[in-house]
Amino acid sequence: MSEELTRPFEALPESCDVLVVGAGIMGLATAHHLARLGAGRIVVVDQSYLCSGASGRNGGGVRAQWASEINIGLMKRSLALCADFATEMGINVWFRKDGYLFLARNEKRRAELEGSVALQRSHGLPTRMIGPAEVAAIVPELDVGRVVAASYNPDDAVVFPWPFVWGYARSCQRQGVEIFPFVEAELETENGRVAGALLRSRRTANAGAEHRIRAGLTILATGAWSPEVARPLGLELPNHPHRHEICSTEPLKPFLGPLVADLESGLYFSQSMRGEIVGGISNNRVPDGLDQRSSLRFLGLYARELTRTMPILGSVRVLRQWAGCYDLTPDGSPIVGRVDGLGDLVLLCGFMGHGFMMAPIMGLLTARHLMKGEEQELFDRWSLSRFERGELLAESMILG
Ligand SMILES: Cc1cc2nc3c(=O)[nH]c(=O)nc-3n(C[C@H](O)[C@H](O)[C@H](O)COP(=O)(O)OP(=O)(O)OC[C@H]3O[C@@H](n4cnc5c(N)ncnc54)[C@H](O)[C@@H]3O)c2cc1C
Repeated sequence: MSEELTRPFEALPESCDVLVVGAGIMGLATAHHLARLGAGRIVVVDQSYLCSGASGRNGGGVRAQWASEINIGLMKRSLALCADFATEMGINVWFRKDGYLFLARNEKRRAELEGSVALQRSHGLPTRMIGPAEVAAIVPELDVGRVVAASYNPDDAVVFPWPFVWGYARSCQRQGVEIFPFVEAELETENGRVAGALLRSRRTANAGAEHRIRAGLTILATGAWSPEVARPLGLELPNHPHRHEICSTEPLKPFLGPLVADLESGLYFSQSMRGEIVGGISNNRVPDGLDQRSSLRFLGLYARELTRTMPILGSVRVLRQWAGCYDLTPDGSPIVGRVDGLGDLVLLCGFMGHGFMMAPIMGLLTARHLMKGEEQELFDRWSLSRFERGELLAESMILG
């Protein structure tokens, strides 16, 4: 993204109405909608460059196939926002609606998928269960020998994440939101409320330079870093960072329609519009932590499962591998909304491995919630206090 969309450290103001910490997709989408609703002076800071966090490292999968009412309902709306994004924001996000295919390799998984398909259909989605023959008709290169059934929603999609982030950043800038990359925030309290932050430059030219900013409202949109950003406030968040790896192959002639996913192994892969096969796999043996390095173990794990699923890919070369951090919560649902006892802090974190697809709708709903008091139920259900109340949520269609 060009420099004129962001601002230098020296231009940081003394105060703002809203301070958004974290310029990932969640922070920027929210800032964009807050600006639209006239939230006043909005400052967004990020300790690194735009797209440095999970928002610049993900697979770009956007789907409405979920197993809970709440996620299906939200993702139906988010998918519609994704589909309109290019036109509305004037930036090509390579939105490709070729569906998601969730494979079932045993009867238990088939029954689970059948349950979620019924729920999705009751929400008006065109998802349907299909047998191995139809799976093979949709993706002839798949080895369907081990496939019992699959759920298929032709309306699910894949996007290219970077222009999505840039689109929000550009819209923010047009609306007067000030975005400061390479500025690390340390939140500060005053009389029991979060009053702003001590900001530190991370640019080589003036590394360590400090600036204090006062904020009427502070939004914590720091993804997998959220527990460590919240800790100095005495706030222990239950989410934790977990490395997730992904890779991309040399480009191939377009042949693969839907994103293929297997909830058993956690394997998923799709073909980008440039022809690369982009995919990843769950790896529960990775210890928690903010580690974004790539590993050989991942490549072995992924290659084995991918070539078992689609043998034709056995001779394709991997061009690039990278990693990012999932922001995992104990029940697989995000943590959003105001924090009891810390009046002016709003959490927007814990989005697991599916926050990219949720950001368009969560940015909108968060802004409306803060400005107009809407969507109270969602912000109660996904609140931090649900963990204390023991009201954990259930969602089984989680990848990774
Ligand atoms: C490999 C991989 C594949 C994925 N695939 C998908 C997918 O297909 N579909 C999907 O929907 N989701 C996917 N996800 C998840 C998705 O990328 C995330 O849920 C989403 O991007 C989270 O956005 P965010 O803005 O909350 O966090 P981030 O994008 O991580 O942004 C947080 C930002 O906060 C900044 N920050 C942290 N601490 C501070 C501080 N103290 N001061 C200032 N700034 C700070 C960081 O630099 C970072 O830029 C994937 C994730 C990974 C890692």
